[in-house]
Amino acid sequence: MPPVKVVVVGSANMDLIGLCPHLPAPGETVLGTGFEMACGGKGANQAVACARLGAVTFFVCRLGKDSFGDLLEENLRKEGIRTDAVVRDSEMPSGVALIFVDSKGQNQILVAPGSNGRLSPSDWQGKEEVWKGADALLLQLEIPVETVAAALHRAREEGALTVLNAAPFRPLPQHIWSQVSVCVVNEKEAEAFTGVPVAEPNDAVTAGQWFLARGTDAVVVTLGEKGSVLVLKDSYTVFPAFAVNAVDATAAGDAFCGALTVRLAEKAPLTDALPFANAAGALACTRLGAQPSLPTRQEVETFLKERTAS
Ligand code: ADP
Repeated sequence: MPPVKVVVVGSANMDLIGLCPHLPAPGETVLGTGFEMACGGKGANQAVACARLGAVTFFVCRLGKDSFGDLLEENLRKEGIRTDAVVRDSEMPSGVALIFVDSKGQNQILVAPGSNGRLSPSDWQGKEEVWKGADALLLQLEIPVETVAAALHRAREEGALTVLNAAPFRPLPQHIWSQVSVCVVNEKEAEAFTGVPVAEPNDAVTAGQWFLARGTDAVVVTLGEKGSVLVLKDSYTVFPAFAVNAVDATAAGDAFCGALTVRLAEKAPLTDALPFANAAGALACTRLGAQPSLPTRQEVETFLKERTAS
């Protein structure tokens, strides 16, 4: 089967991670114990997830004309991601996440969206090669809502499947939901949108109805180590998580969304795509970090074979 084409429209950030004995109080200077820099942002993480899982991946994003922008763009190229619609903004700096992690693993995060906040539909104007023949579009909510709406519209014109990872939570205009083929939310996002507290699969089914009533075709609620729930108009299915030795859940959701989108773009039924996505999420939990933990196609397929054989 020739590789499918996935367009990801979203954010890219440079994560600046400072390790410290305790989190600084207001006005306090703390002597750190370490520092790391890593490429991140939900959009970039999910683009990397799709590329590693074998899709021809186009990433639409806006980076600053600064050294972080250079590093972020270079990283996308290194992953084999098509950067035709990566725009460099000469007025705004690249998005940055300032992350403090203390000795107990607690964190404090400030995201400065920078150029991500100016990603606009004009950024893909005249770049027809980005959308032509796209099988699926994958979006998150770290970019302007108008850009999300325009991308959904453009993808639909192309006949592409649309997957919205509605994270982080922000209020959305009503008309968005009917443009979404599959909406993916975690427990907290599900509750923020619907007002239904979600802890168990049953709650996810109740919350899922909120999205369906607004016109979304299918809803997936992810429940961490409890797996994920697929909610459709007349039915629902619980897909239990794979038991793994989880060391860091960072980017589990990004691995999950990328994997779900790639399998659906390949025209796999939802009932096949969900276990595949659960496997990618589980594998991401077994390794430290965001992008370094995202699995390859080979890894997910080997894992699934081992788990379904036993
Ligand atoms: P998010 O990172 O967006 O909060 P979740 O924590 O719900 O998303 O994780 C996404 C998916 O990753 C889950 O639906 C599950 O398939 C997988 N996953 C997450 N945590 C674990 C875990 N501890 N063990 C196995 N799989 C996990």
